[in-house]
Amino acid sequence: MHITSLQNGFLNGSGNGAAAGNRLLATLTKNEYKRLLPKLKLVSLVLGEVLYEPGDVIKHVYFPNDSIISLISELSDTSWLEVGMVGSEGMAGLAVFMGVNFSSTRALVQGSGTAMRMSSAAVRTEANRVGSLHRILHRYSHSLLAQVSQSSACNRFHLVDARLARWLLMTNDRLGLKEFPLTQEFLSNMLGVRREGVSKAAHALQAGKLIRYSRGVITILNRRGLEAKSCQCYAIIKAESDAYLN
Ligand SMILES: [Zn+2]
Repeated sequence: MHITSLQNGFLNGSGNGAAAGNRLLATLTKNEYKRLLPKLKLVSLVLGEVLYEPGDVIKHVYFPNDSIISLISELSDTSWLEVGMVGSEGMAGLAVFMGVNFSSTRALVQGSGTAMRMSSAAVRTEANRVGSLHRILHRYSHSLLAQVSQSSACNRFHLVDARLARWLLMTNDRLGLKEFPLTQEFLSNMLGVRREGVSKAAHALQAGKLIRYSRGVITILNRRGLEAKSCQCYAIIKAESDAYLN
């Protein structure tokens, strides 16, 4: 997505948010969107950037356009697990909307791209004003909770290659790219699996010609095949995040 065209789309007020890459913002009424526009700032997020650590005061929330933010629980200094994923369907920093100032998870940029940033103070004002942003954030809270619940059951019961397929599909949906950088160490933390387990699962997907994994770059070769390989959790999570937006 080109930043200039995105900003122009916002500035010339075309549509009711259709110019926004963020699907949550795109559901706002035209008037509400216009009113919020001065409070939204287009920012670039870079892979590996940490937006909040657990316990940090949340100063801004982020509505990703084509970036991905992972919500991570830390179990020890060396062990952590992704508990949620926020892309164009959502917003990072939801705690602020719930009346909590601190982050309980790490928010890590998992895919580079742009996002619309809003100050927490502005979100607090919106939380007290029952407009379309307020309503959609309530619905999003439910959707994110459903995603986190499904992922946690998935991490406990489903096989690593099915979970890897689900994770790659979710990343592909949010980034809109078939090729993205990914180290085994990162993936092992995302899935809460030892590196050998990730490596074995990646080999299995590669042997089935579903992906190519070379020099830290994953390429999705066969999306349909990957959908077939994934557990049903992918379809359940996708249906939930599509449904809340409609
Ligand atoms: Zn699953």
